[in-house]
Amino acid sequence: MKNKKELRLRWPFRILIVLIGVVIVVSAYYPIRSIYKLCMHNYSFDTSLKVYKDGNYSYLMNREYNKLTDLYYGSKDYKKENMDYYMKLNFIEKDNYLANVNKLLEKGYSVDDINIIYSKLSDKFIDRLTKEYIFDIIKYIEIDYFKEENYERYLKYFNGNYQKTVLYVNIGLDKEWYQDPNTVNEFSTTILVNKFNKLKDGFEVPEIVSISKDFSDGETYLTKEAADAFENMARDAKKEGYDIWANSAYRDYDRQQRLWDYYLKQYGKAYNEKYVARPGFSEHETGLAVDIKSLHNSIFKNSKEYKWVLNNGYKYGFIHRYPSTKVDITGISTESWHFRYVGVDIATYIYKNNLCYEEYYAMFLDK
Ligand SMILES: [Zn+2]
Repeated sequence: MKNKKELRLRWPFRILIVLIGVVIVVSAYYPIRSIYKLCMHNYSFDTSLKVYKDGNYSYLMNREYNKLTDLYYGSKDYKKENMDYYMKLNFIEKDNYLANVNKLLEKGYSVDDINIIYSKLSDKFIDRLTKEYIFDIIKYIEIDYFKEENYERYLKYFNGNYQKTVLYVNIGLDKEWYQDPNTVNEFSTTILVNKFNKLKDGFEVPEIVSISKDFSDGETYLTKEAADAFENMARDAKKEGYDIWANSAYRDYDRQQRLWDYYLKQYGKAYNEKYVARPGFSEHETGLAVDIKSLHNSIFKNSKEYKWVLNNGYKYGFIHRYPSTKVDITGISTESWHFRYVGVDIATYIYKNNLCYEEYYAMFLDK
């Protein structure tokens, strides 16, 4: 009798225990299973736990494993509501990265914006963007040759076209001629010398050689590479019935100075600024520039040789340096006779894309 009573009392108790057990197992089953699955999906246990708590389980399970998620969840700056955005970031390992991302998102920058901002701008500039929304900053920094240090100058110069603004300011067109020029220290075939880029004092060119007497007076000099190219060009031209002649090529600083002084006396300053380069600012001092003349027509521009060199010079590495369409950029009134050696590849690109050397240089060489 006593035993039976005990049994009766114990059965409901046991059922209760079992029920509680079932409830515990059932309610623990999903979290455990989810965390287990996340771990199997390569996430760390820590991340998996947080992901589950945040309710992002399905979100992550429906995507490929992203190791950055581990990093984001591990960060003290992680914000659940920004998870969608984090997943599209090109993560960069930097202090305050996620904190800055949060701020940039808050300011109104998109994830794409943030990716490009981080690929192009310094920490200092990024810091500025976390505090203010600059609506057109992306238009600037998307341009390959954007230079952060010129940003204020772009704003000042802005001419309605972002690309041209960046290009022209990089060239220096927002500055006065000869004011505050860059110093060019070393010779190279791609050297840029103009009203914004001055050769250093005592600038030295590599060995120069005289151009063959077949195509010059024998005392006209270029660097070896340029002289060879010129002779090849002149020889091929001759085969086709065109006679070109190197009228003037390498001039050292003193020679350029004398030339400047001479023309100044003869024609005055306005003429000089337009047609004669100041000493230190002349391509002729590099041994890469040559003034060409025709043996058939004293006005080169009217000669058949001019047309031939204009359309064939690039095959030998020469560019028409001061085209009439680019006076605004070169600052030099068209000089039909002045050609510059830059090498075949660059010359070809410039010829085919109708650029002047300043443009090419700013786009591809000015790093
Ligand atoms: Zn010249």
